[in-house]
Amino acid sequence: RVYVLRIGHRPQRDKRITTHVGLVARAFGANGFVLGDVCDDHVMDSLRGVLERWGGSMELLCGVNSRRYVSEWKRNCGEVIHLTMYGLHVDDVIGEIRASPRPKLIVVGAEKVPPFFYEAADYNVAIGNQPHSEVAALAVFLDRLYEGRELRIEFPGARVKILPSPRGKKVVSLEEDN
Ligand code: SAM
Repeated sequence: RVYVLRIGHRPQRDKRITTHVGLVARAFGANGFVLGDVCDDHVMDSLRGVLERWGGSMELLCGVNSRRYVSEWKRNCGEVIHLTMYGLHVDDVIGEIRASPRPKLIVVGAEKVPPFFYEAADYNVAIGNQPHSEVAALAVFLDRLYEGRELRIEFPGARVKILPSPRGKKVVSLEEDN
């Protein structure tokens, strides 16, 4: 089980990027997306809409206390992986992380991440030691974790599905006639 916790969301500035964190979580195989400390209807409605149309059963939560969520995950559930450019190179730790059967909480930040999360994390993992984006960091981390298999996931309950085509757009409806 893999959940993604997005911390530091600023509703005025981050709607689009936080929505993209949620979309990447879903598309790259996470089972849950948690928006910490705030609820933002725009973000959560967009994600709900994608789940309804494109399928999948990712759990959505918002407004939880991020620090408490991390502490409780560690106490009751599994391990916490914080993505940060200051962390250890992903290739040096991903084997150990993949080998552990314990549920994983992946934490991604926005502007400035409080020291608490560096200290609470079981792993502080860098997707390269250069500043970039929580969207890119999450995508690369999940892709390494699942070794690329996530790109073949068939999402249960989808109403539509793309037929890959060399040119143009082919979308089929999966809804049953009744
Ligand atoms: N400077 C901020 C800090 O670490 O306090 C981070 C700003 S960055 C725009 C937002 C988020 O993207 C970070 O919290 C981290 O989760 C992710 N991120 C950015 N670059 C990363 C990298 N090289 N490796 C892993 N995660 C990264």
